[in-house]
Amino acid sequence: MESESEKLFKLSSAIGEIQNRIGHTTDQQDLLTAILDIVGALVLILDKDGRVIYFNRTCEETSGYDFVEIRGKCLWDVLTREEDAESARVNFKKILKGNYPAAYENFWNGKDGSEHLIAWSNTALVNEKSEVTYVIATGIDITERKLTEQRLQYLAHFDSLTDLPNRTLFYDRLSHVLGHSRRYNQMFALLFLDLDGFKFINNSLGHDIGDLLLKMVAARLPKCVRESDTVAHAGADEFVIILPLLERVQEASMVAEKILDTFSTPFYLDTHECFVGMSIGISVYPDDGDDIDALLKNSDIAMYQAKSKGGNTYQFYNPEMNSRALRRLELENNLRKALEKNEFRLQYQPKIDLNTWSVSGVEALIRWLNPQLGMISPVEFIPLAEETGIIISIGEWVLRTACAQAKHWQDLGCNGILMSVNLSARQFKSKDLVLTISNILEETGLSPDSLELELTETVVMDDAETAIKILREIKNMGIHIAIDDFGMGYSSLSYLKRFPIDCLKIDRSFVNDITTDTDDAAIATAIIAMSHSLKLRVIAEGVETNGQLEFLCALDCDEAQGYLFSKPLPVEDIETFLLSKKIRSGA
Ligand code: C2E
Ligand code: MG
Ligand code: MG
Repeated sequence: MESESEKLFKLSSAIGEIQNRIGHTTDQQDLLTAILDIVGALVLILDKDGRVIYFNRTCEETSGYDFVEIRGKCLWDVLTREEDAESARVNFKKILKGNYPAAYENFWNGKDGSEHLIAWSNTALVNEKSEVTYVIATGIDITERKLTEQRLQYLAHFDSLTDLPNRTLFYDRLSHVLGHSRRYNQMFALLFLDLDGFKFINNSLGHDIGDLLLKMVAARLPKCVRESDTVAHAGADEFVIILPLLERVQEASMVAEKILDTFSTPFYLDTHECFVGMSIGISVYPDDGDDIDALLKNSDIAMYQAKSKGGNTYQFYNPEMNSRALRRLELENNLRKALEKNEFRLQYQPKIDLNTWSVSGVEALIRWLNPQLGMISPVEFIPLAEETGIIISIGEWVLRTACAQAKHWQDLGCNGILMSVNLSARQFKSKDLVLTISNILEETGLSPDSLELELTETVVMDDAETAIKILREIKNMGIHIAIDDFGMGYSSLSYLKRFPIDCLKIDRSFVNDITTDTDDAAIATAIIAMSHSLKLRVIAEGVETNGQLEFLCALDCDEAQGYLFSKPLPVEDIETFLLSKKIRSGA
């Protein structure tokens, strides 16, 4: 081992070397001090008791203490926080024993209260007896670097809008919880949350308010869970929660209920009071999936199920949902191409005038025949077409095809057949509706009074004032308007009076039990009487038996439609049907 005098000798030879190179001769000590002052690192020398015997300028600048204030004192008595002082003493003892750490970090508290993180590297000088005489410590202030590191670390793992863990950290935690649960055979739950109506808030109140809402939601959610649970922002209006160490599945539903309960209190956004619902889907490990992807996918499916139930509720995943989701996906993919592949057909179901027993009109009903999926009911694909917006082009096709068909029949001399076409909610609300209808009428040459549009009660009641305006425009064109499935929604009678409509169609469900259920009979009776006093035509849908027909005739119902007369028929068959015209002579 090198002795102290050998080291000092080496040092002074090094300084001599520097003097030679720069070509001057200065006092060795001055030169050494100058070098130590400009190296930009903290350099200090301690004696064997830990007292400072040298403190360079960088030490002074960093700590705010002058060398004279520090000289002879132990650093940890002056510069180190109480919690770090002990470790500084322990470190120094280690150095004395010769097994000093090559590098370590500790905090220095400056005179002005500033805090510096210093990365140290120590060297001990020893005498001939191998005893430590001095310790030379060189250090670099890494406070800034650490802060930048922490900031980068934060940005990589937290969402800057909500301050919640982001997707990356969420995946990290999830795989950690999954690994732990696998090893110890434990359950955990994954909650997938989606705000109800967020798009509406964002679009109507602006993105700033939308962001504010997300922040407020993010602040409320962690209060509904334990500290060991993870609440993360998955993006847009979606949040995810991991509930590790589940004893019972019910714990997950308790958390979901707590969240829904918390969200029943309104949010105050700027000047707006806003109630926001939450749709929550839950998947549980191991029952609902063995890996991250399956658990996430299944909680997402369950969330959609909660949405389709009207939102503001939670749903546990069940495998049936999966097949439903797959079917939905399959339908959606095929639906997009169905029009161009010419897979739609119209069938026509006759409507019978109960006074003349002749066909008063036909209702056009769409059919979808896909080579792979077979025949798909409109009850299944119309809602999907609505949701995806595809209904607009499908609806246009239906209208054009039905109008062209009606015109064709008229050209063949078959007059007095009213063509009824169903309009969906989205079609009714589309701003191009009136223009589209008038274009199609012009294109096909059908006169407007040969066309009737059927709208369900819920569609027109949803925004009754706007509906009245649109209905008036349609009515002014000379087109007939019918309210479909009447009795299923909640019509306000005062609105009904103001709607410019021609016809009410009694929903099939009331007709079905009209002869056996006194309530249904009473409702049908009331609808017929009310229609007549409002001077509206009334049609009974879904008439299947002679008993139902006789009942309706006794109530003076104007028209009937149902399997008793005919199912919806392909175009060739309905033409044959129309040729026979008279259905039955006399009641
Ligand atoms: P909707 O407009 O109320 O049509 C009547 C539905 O009842 C039709 O079902 C028809 O086949 C069925 N139906 C008729 N008579 C009877 C009967 O005696 N017994 C029974 N059990 N059912 C009968 P479909 O064709 O499956 O259509 C279902 C719904 O799909 C329609 O209800 C309508 O809301 C919608 N829809 C059908 N075609 C179109 C369309 O072109 N556009 C739009 N937007 N919706 C359509
Ligand atoms: Mg209809
Ligand atoms: Mg109907």
